[in-house]
Amino acid sequence: MKKKKVNYKKEYCDYFGVHSFIFDEYEFIVNHRKVRATKIHHILFGANKIEHITNWMALSLENHDKAHDEKLNRYDLEKIHLEFMENSPY
Ligand SMILES: [Zn+2]
Repeated sequence: MKKKKVNYKKEYCDYFGVHSFIFDEYEFIVNHRKVRATKIHHILFGANKIEHITNWMALSLENHDKAHDEKLNRYDLEKIHLEFMENSPY
């Protein structure tokens, strides 16, 4: 069965009600820095990828690369994302 394609960037923005400046969640929670995010990252990706807000995390290009190089731990990212959702700056 063909999977329905989700516009996760739009869904992410709709969830938080943001249109322009999107915060890098890692920098916001861990370093208390306001850095622009340009990527929406799937915390669980590959075969485990799910299309849901709990799995979508906004990151800068630099941190996004680190996430894919496993320099940022996905379990840490999961916790950071939950904290971001609970303490949304928007
Ligand atoms: Zn990614």
